[in-house]
Amino acid sequence: MTEILNPANGVVVADVDYATAAGVDSVVRRAREAFPEWSRATPGERSARIAALAAAMESRADEYVRTETAQTGKPLRLSREFDVPGSIDNALFFSGAARNLEGKASAEWDGTHTSLIRREPIGVVGSIAPWNYPLQMAMWKILPAISAGNTIVLKPAEITPLTALMVAEDARTAGIPDGVVSVIVGTGPEVGEALVSHPGVDMVSFTGSTPVGKRVMELATRDVKRVHLELGGKAPFVVFDDANLDAAVQGAAAGALINTGQDCTAATRAYVQRPLYEAFVEQVADLFGRIVVGDPLVDSTDLGPLISRRQQERVAAFVERARDAGAKVRVGGSIPGGDLACGAYYTPTVITDAGQDSEIVRSEVFGPVLVVLPFDSDDQGLELANDTVYGLAASAWTTDVFRALRAQREIRAGCVWINDHIPIASEMPHGGFKQSGFGKDMSTYSFEEYTQVKHVSLDITGVAAKPWHRTIFGEKS
Ligand code: NAD
Repeated sequence: MTEILNPANGVVVADVDYATAAGVDSVVRRAREAFPEWSRATPGERSARIAALAAAMESRADEYVRTETAQTGKPLRLSREFDVPGSIDNALFFSGAARNLEGKASAEWDGTHTSLIRREPIGVVGSIAPWNYPLQMAMWKILPAISAGNTIVLKPAEITPLTALMVAEDARTAGIPDGVVSVIVGTGPEVGEALVSHPGVDMVSFTGSTPVGKRVMELATRDVKRVHLELGGKAPFVVFDDANLDAAVQGAAAGALINTGQDCTAATRAYVQRPLYEAFVEQVADLFGRIVVGDPLVDSTDLGPLISRRQQERVAAFVERARDAGAKVRVGGSIPGGDLACGAYYTPTVITDAGQDSEIVRSEVFGPVLVVLPFDSDDQGLELANDTVYGLAASAWTTDVFRALRAQREIRAGCVWINDHIPIASEMPHGGFKQSGFGKDMSTYSFEEYTQVKHVSLDITGVAAKPWHRTIFGEKS
């Protein structure tokens, strides 16, 4: 048994059994057995079962909210208004998407055959998810896979498996056949690697850090499995000198601090054009200083703890190294004591005077830390924004439509917000460029990625000697 700890106070929330590599084999076998029937279910049948899953989750939404908060430490407000309703909305979206396969029109493209395009499920999907949004990540993986007719084995992060396990229970309640949705709990190196490498898995869908994503891709390559990777980010936040400063300051605090900064799209590098730079730093530091860090169960709490003591040490070490390298900590930069000493808390932190090539600007910190840097010309601002190995998300802040149009075109990221940072919608794709991975979550783009395209060609002439046979053996028949 392994203890799942509440990072807000170190209290044990649950005990779970971690599986072993042998356990992976039996779960994958069950998923393979379930595939033929589920893949042949009509889109309408799959849609109805997914709608029933949404209803089952809705009927115990409060339990989801409390469990998600207990295992992650995120404020109840965030679980209640974002994670849980967002996940149920996602289920409703994919219930609709299941009935909406699109493709090219069938036609007699060469005049002698009718071509059909089929979008078919891939088979068994082996999926691995991170700890920052355990419920949402589970849903983003499970829903497109099963709505397209695949079966899935999901391994949630070993420290936050509880809400994914609840989804597997609700899938049963919803009448989704046994083996279609399986959740297996265990460590990455043992269970994760066994899943990705299993010959019975046809597609690997991974959300997590870029280094682990590279390992997953390497393992999946051996059997040429389809790979879908949602990896790390280091989102730029570009403020031009005509921006609405109040909006940019609010947006930076919300975008950097959501989920205690443990968000792959979080605003982490604010580039502010020189005329607004000082005012932006001052106001954003002031707002960060007024954020209420505390018990996730209390309504007035804005920011909960980090996910673990380990993450707390990691974030603190990043900030210390930035300080040692000459950066200035304008606010925050400490582990709070007193009542908060019992949890993995870290104060909201604004850093300035860091070099573009410094670690704090280049590496993913995954904590409540925003670095602010100045720029002069528009060209320079956009260049600095793109100066990263990541490309998951970005935002640009301006009231000039031409600057906005230029920024959305030139920033190399899978999502660019203009005058906001973070909002997502089930209908819209989420996924990266560059080392943030490839593949999209949510939306019909994600649904299509869990299908494979088949071309079916039917002869419509009925003649034995087809015109193209001449190329092979002349006029003989
Ligand atoms: P992580 O990469 O450490 O772990 C992610 C998952 O991979 C966990 O389930 C873990 O058990 C598993 N894992 C670890 N080693 C493995 C291995 N050798 N083989 C197979 N599986 C293995 O990431 P994390 O710390 O859980 O989450 C934070 C990271 O996730 C950040 O980098 C963040 O940017 C990223 N993330 C990305 C997105 C996105 O949509 N792009 C969304 C959320 C989080």
